[in-house]
Amino acid sequence: MRHTLNDIVIVGAGMAGLHAAEALRGNGFDGRITLIGDEPHRPYSRPPLSKEALTGIGMGAAEDGPGPAPLAGHRALRLRDDDAVDALGLDLRLGRRATGLDTRRRRVTLTGTGGTAEEVGYDGLIVASGARARRPDTGLDGVHVLRTLDDAEAVRAALAPGGHAVVVGAGFVGAEVAASARAVGMEVTLVEAAATPLTRVVDPRIGRVLTDLHRENGVDVRLGAGVTGFEGHRRVERVRLADGTTIEASLVVAGVGVHLNTEWLRGSGVDLLADGSVACDEYAAASVPDVYAAGDLANWPHPRYGGRIRLEHWTNASEQAEAAARNLLAGRGRTPFAPVPYFWSDQYGMKVQLLGQGAPADRVAFVHGRPEDRKFVAFLGRGGLLTGILGLRSTPRTMRYRPLLERPTPWEEALAAAGGGR
Ligand SMILES: Cc1cc2nc3c(=O)[nH]c(=O)nc-3n(C[C@H](O)[C@H](O)[C@H](O)COP(=O)(O)OP(=O)(O)OC[C@H]3O[C@@H](n4cnc5c(N)ncnc54)[C@H](O)[C@@H]3O)c2cc1C
Repeated sequence: MRHTLNDIVIVGAGMAGLHAAEALRGNGFDGRITLIGDEPHRPYSRPPLSKEALTGIGMGAAEDGPGPAPLAGHRALRLRDDDAVDALGLDLRLGRRATGLDTRRRRVTLTGTGGTAEEVGYDGLIVASGARARRPDTGLDGVHVLRTLDDAEAVRAALAPGGHAVVVGAGFVGAEVAASARAVGMEVTLVEAAATPLTRVVDPRIGRVLTDLHRENGVDVRLGAGVTGFEGHRRVERVRLADGTTIEASLVVAGVGVHLNTEWLRGSGVDLLADGSVACDEYAAASVPDVYAAGDLANWPHPRYGGRIRLEHWTNASEQAEAAARNLLAGRGRTPFAPVPYFWSDQYGMKVQLLGQGAPADRVAFVHGRPEDRKFVAFLGRGGLLTGILGLRSTPRTMRYRPLLERPTPWEEALAAAGGGR
């Protein structure tokens, strides 16, 4: 028989955690919601951390005299006003980390206030503990990662005009940090082990356009270059590459992927996949009754992509959290989670938007504009179907084609909808 839901625990007070809480209330749940987050901050938005939070551009003036205002509580990072969060009536436990899960007794163990362990019981659980940045083990000051507000505060303090930033990893976070460091007047070298940037996310034909964008903005882009070490005396001074060359560095930011925060689920009976992600079904449910997962750590079978996917996208964290909350409450009558994935990035004042999947692709067609004008819409296809749409500086046109990805659309039909493509 189904457990009555009186107490719901959400682990992770990030994008997915907050959205799950809002969706529970929005769907009429008036029981107790405990939201547990290990950061000391209320839920905040991460995307500005690699963009305006680093450069200060668009962040508004400091309120307390000269120097930048602290990022904590800054409007640009705020997901909701404090009043709106208070109105949810949550048992908000910040600065507390979930360390274990007993699914038989339905209890989460967490670090208590005085360092002692505490337990919180639940009828329903939403796992939203996201990911943390992979951190190179250098023992040197000046080597940073960028995942949290506190990381961004440290990187911002280290950005200095005239200095030399080496950004390791040309994923979206690395690419945005490179653009932000250029915007504040630093020399920038962007080092990437793969042959093109963003290999996991977009086809190389698009990756090459983005490489050109960095180069024409003065970034020294080194592709196919593996980092073998960081050198310096207490502080980083140089980055060593596999070919034996070194690059001077006053600051290093590593954007080399994430570890998923799911160690606390080990041994609980919640199935984890090889990368540590939570194995969900199409309803965002984990392998144990009344446990759901959402956001960066959730892996689920997407009906239109022929297999399991996992997305590290802001919009997915909110949409999947809503689906998880709705399905947890629904019992029967659950609805599958089958979104059109959406991701954006801002670099050098240009917006890149990706709908659907950008890689792997066997076809790429620029259906509006041209890559050399740095303004275009590209269709990406695989197996005779349209699978992704990527736009650069073309928001309305890109979004107009979204319905083509809401169902399987044959490649030729998609091209015809765009006026024939080229
Ligand atoms: C610098 C940066 C820029 C980005 N820019 C973009 C962008 O432009 N566009 C885009 O679409 N996406 C962007 N993203 C990705 C987007 O922010 C993430 O996909 C989103 O934050 C994922 O939300 P989440 O709630 O799943 O995880 P998280 O945001 O990681 O939140 C999880 C929370 O749970 C906490 N936690 C972890 N373990 C525990 C535990 N055991 N107990 C309690 N709490 C725990 C974490 O500390 C964290 O606060 C960016 C990400 C970063 C880091």
